[in-house]
Amino acid sequence: MSKKPRKVRVEFRKNREVRARRNKITSIEHATGETDDLRTDERISGKGDISRYRTIKSSGREGGTLRDVDEAGCVLARILATAGIHCLAQTDEGRRYECTVRQVVRTLARESRNAVVTGDRVLLRPINDEQAVVERVEPRHGLLSRASGGKEQILVANVDQVLIVVSAADPPLKPHLIDRFLISAEKGQVRPLICINKIDLVDPADLQPLVGLYAQLGYETHLCSAATQRGVVRLRRALCDRQTVLSGQSGVGKSSLINRLEPDLDLDTRSVSGWTRKGKHTTRRAIAYPLSFGGTVIDTPGIRQMSLWDVARGEIEGYFIEFRPFVPLCAFPDCTHTHEEICGVKSAVAAELISPPRYESYLKLLTDDSD
Ligand code: GDP
Ligand code: ZN
Repeated sequence: MSKKPRKVRVEFRKNREVRARRNKITSIEHATGETDDLRTDERISGKGDISRYRTIKSSGREGGTLRDVDEAGCVLARILATAGIHCLAQTDEGRRYECTVRQVVRTLARESRNAVVTGDRVLLRPINDEQAVVERVEPRHGLLSRASGGKEQILVANVDQVLIVVSAADPPLKPHLIDRFLISAEKGQVRPLICINKIDLVDPADLQPLVGLYAQLGYETHLCSAATQRGVVRLRRALCDRQTVLSGQSGVGKSSLINRLEPDLDLDTRSVSGWTRKGKHTTRRAIAYPLSFGGTVIDTPGIRQMSLWDVARGEIEGYFIEFRPFVPLCAFPDCTHTHEEICGVKSAVAAELISPPRYESYLKLLTDDSD
């Protein structure tokens, strides 16, 4: 992290040359969709219109871009939700601001849609009691990303754990979806937990083989029912003081569980998600709700597909930890464990040393990357 500042040359945008301030001198004009610079530490060369560039010092690195900012008058906050070019942030003291993002912060991000994401720690410059500008995004850790349009889309940053929510029924339980979410969690260096909701709809004994399998693999598993509240107390303990993102297919009961975790959250849920509906270009990707008993829970309501980002086919077997002892028994070092005749993994599946559903899951992940 203590790298030398990187110098970035960015074009000075023409639309900034005309500043549009109406009302108060401190208010910002959002009509262009850009944030106006009120104070600048950028140098503009005086060579006329064609060569208006500014040099920015930054220690940019993957997932988070630091730039030198005058921190006086700024406050640290966390992003609760993003919608189009706006975001909602909450300071450490609990004050909320609707924010725009300084254009230079977008320019410095490798992908502008990932410039500010839910969960980001940011440095804000308040404009008034309700509005602020994001001056800087602090370096990130613990990401949940997916592939979208052939590019990385960071859904949430700075989380400690992912609660993978599936339902025992309605929609039916698909173990391969659990495996897909497990990979994305491990890829983002976030601890995965598994939650099987709607157990009121089945005989929980039927779930034992699956729970046993994941427990054996070392994953903490919760059986819950948002309807009867079974398992909710234990789940609350698992989430206490942690930054947790809930991920799973829609309809599995993520929002119902969140409301059970924190009954008083109902109102707050409406206030934060209500905010995300206010904007014109609403993208409800991830919404963070601070928990009264400590920690934050982040819902991902708009996510229908969880395509893996940046996981090569050959890498997939590495995420199936139970395959590892058998891979050296394969005849070919680049064995895909599919059509090859002498294959340690396939032999282990035949001998039920590897669970057949996990192997099927592996095959599914190898051949397609959706659903
Ligand atoms: P989300 O899309 O994952 O946020 O799912 P919702 O929380 O909106 O729930 C989808 C549907 O499942 C709703 O009709 C809920 O009432 C229902 N549901 C949620 N949890 C449970 C549960 O534990 N048991 C049963 N029977 N239904 C549930
Ligand atoms: Zn093999």
